[in-house]
Amino acid sequence: MQSLKHLFFELLKVESPSGFEEPMMKKLVEELTPLCDEVYHTPRGNVIGIQKGSDPDSPKIALAAHMDQVGFIVFNIDPRGFIRFRKLGGSVSRSIQGHQVKLLTEKGPVIGVVGIKPGHITSPEEATKVPPINEMYIDIGAKNKEEVLGKGIEIGTPIVWNNEPVELDNNFIAAAAADDRVGLATIITVAKNLKDKKIPSTVYYIGTVEEEIGLRGAEVAVYDLDVDMAVAIDTCPAGWQPDVNIRDIYYEVGNGPALHVGKTGGTTRIGSQVLRKWLIGVAKASGLPYQSGLVHGGNDAHAIQQTKAGIPACTAAIPRRYSHSPVEVLSMDDLSNLTKLLTKAIAGLDSGFSTSRI
Ligand SMILES: [Zn+2]
Repeated sequence: MQSLKHLFFELLKVESPSGFEEPMMKKLVEELTPLCDEVYHTPRGNVIGIQKGSDPDSPKIALAAHMDQVGFIVFNIDPRGFIRFRKLGGSVSRSIQGHQVKLLTEKGPVIGVVGIKPGHITSPEEATKVPPINEMYIDIGAKNKEEVLGKGIEIGTPIVWNNEPVELDNNFIAAAAADDRVGLATIITVAKNLKDKKIPSTVYYIGTVEEEIGLRGAEVAVYDLDVDMAVAIDTCPAGWQPDVNIRDIYYEVGNGPALHVGKTGGTTRIGSQVLRKWLIGVAKASGLPYQSGLVHGGNDAHAIQQTKAGIPACTAAIPRRYSHSPVEVLSMDDLSNLTKLLTKAIAGLDSGFSTSRI
């Protein structure tokens, strides 16, 4: 558990907003290289590590986790040095104003704050509303546009929240971009666990780009790979907090990894039930906790199942509260149990396993 937590916190330090994933690409290549037979990255940005299996008839499996995180991007700089910005992905609008941000320039990071109108002059109507993103602005302390430009900030500079992860009670962690550092920590840990086991199946460990802006990396990630089945590892929204209940969200933090039936809300997507039942069977046989319901929001499994001739894919996720805010809360126990579940499941795959639906 300590090494898993250490790895997770290491990954939380790497800033990689959607479309600007280079730091995480490098980190994942570095982590997977000692664990895999082959590791490479594509010009599109996806990272692929391969552990070759001992039996070519055993199904070849891909584990995918996304390397990007929700963030923001500089849209404009006004003459007084205030910076207008837009979202990269779906950050919660109510958790933007009054927070610190970090602008990731080529000259290095610059810290700023998202300004907010003083309460003294806010009307009662304004006080209960969140302004649209185009009315928000970042203050880096600059006196004019030239000073902002001098720091290396320009239109298109990516931005992330600036805060430190914290450990809460019950082995819970609160952090920005836990989504999807938990997924990356999972695939790296499974790769470590399986490294010297000589299992029948070939395993592809994939870090994808741009999940948060439309599953873009996953759409092309397995195009060149000989993959029979895939599991996407991600976070999912959890309920059971005072303003969310079981009527709206099924999953609860700390009750085990989430094995989704599919997704609801917006478009409906159904994952591979063959793979979901396989993972549930392994969890039951191993005495590992799990939850299985419908999730809100898409993930890489939904893109992968539409690639090539249709690759059976499901999702294994870590439930977390306060999705896409700077304080996503998750349970380290859930994360640890997910690494155990996937390690056991993949080690047990052999030529007798069928992805057939009937
Ligand atoms: Zn995610």
